[in-house]
Parts: sequence; structure tokens; C-alpha cells
Amino acid sequence: MHKIRLAGLRQDAAALELDAALVTTAPNIRYLTGFTGSNAMLLVTERQATLLTDPRYTLQAKTETAGSGVKVIITKGPLETALTPRLKKLRRIGFENDRVQYRAWEHLQRSLPLSASLHPLGAVIEQRRMVKSAEEIAAIRESVNINSQAFAAALTRFRAGMTERDFAAEIDYQMRLLGADKPAFETIVAFRKNSALPHARPGGARIDGNGLLLIDMGTFRAGYASDMTRCVHLGKVGAKTRNLYRAVLEAQLAGVDAVAPGVAANQIDRVTRRVLRQHGLDKAFVHSTGHGLGLEIHEAPRLGRADATPLQAGMTITIEPGAYIEGSGGVRIEDTVLITPKGVEILTPTAKELVVF
Ligand code: ZN
Ligand code: ZN
Repeated sequence: MHKIRLAGLRQDAAALELDAALVTTAPNIRYLTGFTGSNAMLLVTERQATLLTDPRYTLQAKTETAGSGVKVIITKGPLETALTPRLKKLRRIGFENDRVQYRAWEHLQRSLPLSASLHPLGAVIEQRRMVKSAEEIAAIRESVNINSQAFAAALTRFRAGMTERDFAAEIDYQMRLLGADKPAFETIVAFRKNSALPHARPGGARIDGNGLLLIDMGTFRAGYASDMTRCVHLGKVGAKTRNLYRAVLEAQLAGVDAVAPGVAANQIDRVTRRVLRQHGLDKAFVHSTGHGLGLEIHEAPRLGRADATPLQAGMTITIEPGAYIEGSGGVRIEDTVLITPKGVEILTPTAKELVVF
């Protein structure tokens, strides 16, 4: 599996007339070699793939990269020092220009032999990561299921008077109990007017009385992400909230319905936006419709206005339109879905009707 991925990168590097690709981003290194450590560099030339890491990872690097054909070099001190002699016969070296920080770029630049120079690799690895293998899809499926089970388990333990923070902790705890590596991002629990902030931080507000509660949660399982948003309502639902919920649900269903191989990512965004416009809520929808997810919680493609990437079977994406009314509250409904040769499979098993407590 890793050999095939490395071959893909070699093809992309050759197309860019590069002698080698230097990969320094952890999820890309994991994708290409299986190595999950935090400090590593991967140099991929036409004939060799070399992983440089430090002594903390001696055993882990050997185990995780077994069968990938990757040569592991353990080195003390800066990885660049061990890299330099390996760059001797190379001229054009690709680096992850979308990812590398300026300081790291400076370090790389300084470690180059005179004959070599750095060139942008672009997002070639991220492009290939968009379409998932059967194993990756299985991992995402499992992650999605754990996430939904954790949501259900946390809800049974909900008590009126809990703070947003208490309930977020309960959700994270349930994820772990069910086998998640960790939350895929900071769990969002937002009550009443806090739900109008798309990226609300759970705070000390007590979840009590009547009101809308928005929960956005995701897990990592075997390295793969899931992502889901649901709203529940405490007490009787007012007409305004009910209408807001129905409009967002209609947009979400229309978005999911429009997903199929060959459709441009931004077409899905147009579809959800059009539905919300019909309800006079287009200005209340302040983010994009969704994103790819896999080894990272946010990956390509982006389901926003600008990204015209054609959707392909094997991609895993979220569909998550929302509408936010300042001072009152917001609704977002989010599923993780898989693009199939025929259309779409909604992976998230949790029902989307507004749950009333
Ligand atoms: Zn989310
Ligand atoms: Zn999301």
C-alpha cells in the first residue's frame, strides 16, 4: 500500500521535473510510510525513500514502516544535519510549500549543498489523499460509528444544569471509552445564543430551561477522522427555532442529494446556499458547506465557493450547512458522507430530526 503511494509521489515529482520530494508534514509522512511519530523528514528520490527521525522513535519507526521499502535513519540532533549528505547528487528538490513554515524553510535552505535548490511541490500529496482506499474507508466508517455512539451515550448522561464544559467533557470521555484515539477537534457544545457562533468554545454557561443546544463533535480512530453536528432542544420548541431548523435540514438534505461523482465541489455549496436563500437565510450562512476528511479533520476538497474539484468515488466529505442568528441562536446539521460510484452514502447513522428533551 505504501509502495503504491510512494510511486504516486514519484510520478508527481517527475511531472514537476524534480529529482526528489522532501516531505515534512506528519499526516503526509504517515500516508506515505505508516510512520506516526511527530519528528521526521522523508526524502523520496527516484530509487529510494529515506525516513529520518530521532532516537525516541527507533523501534516505532522500524515497526510502522515495515514492508514499505522505506529506509529508516535514526539521528541525534537536527534532522537537517543528517539530510545534507543525502542531497549531494540531487539538483531540484520539491518541498511542501503550502505547509512548511518560514523558519523551517530557512533551515532547509541552509542545509542544501550548493548544487541543489528547493522548488514548490504544491499539494500533490493532498490531492492523492482525497480519494480513500478500502482500508481508509473502513477506518473512517469505524470512526463515524464511534462518534455517533459517543453522542448517544453522552445524551443519556445529560442532566439539566450541566455546563457546556461539563457536557463537552462527558462527550470526550465517551469517545475514549468507545475506542477513539482522541477527539478530532475541540468538541463544541453551545447553548442558546452561544450556538450562533459557528466555532463556539464550550464555557461555563448552564444548560438549563428552554433552548437550543448545538453539538459538533468528531473522533480520530486508527488515525482517521469523523465529524458530526447535531442540535437538540430543551423544552418546547418555538416556531422561529422550528423554522430555522427545517430550513437548515432542507439545505443539508439537498446538499447530500446533489453529491455524485463528477459534480464540482462548489456545486454542492451552491445547492445548500440556494435553499437557505429561499428561506431568507443566505446571509446567516457564514461558512462553507463542507470539507474532505481523513488523516486530518480538514482536507481537500473544500466545499466552498472557490473549489471546483470534481467529486470522485472514494472521497469522504462533510455536508454541514448552518444558519446563525446573532443574539438568538444557530443551527448546523453535519454528516460525514462517502462518494460512491453511483452517488453518495451517508456514513453518519445518527437521526437528523430535532431531538426534544
Ligand atoms: Zn463538525
Ligand atoms: Zn466539519
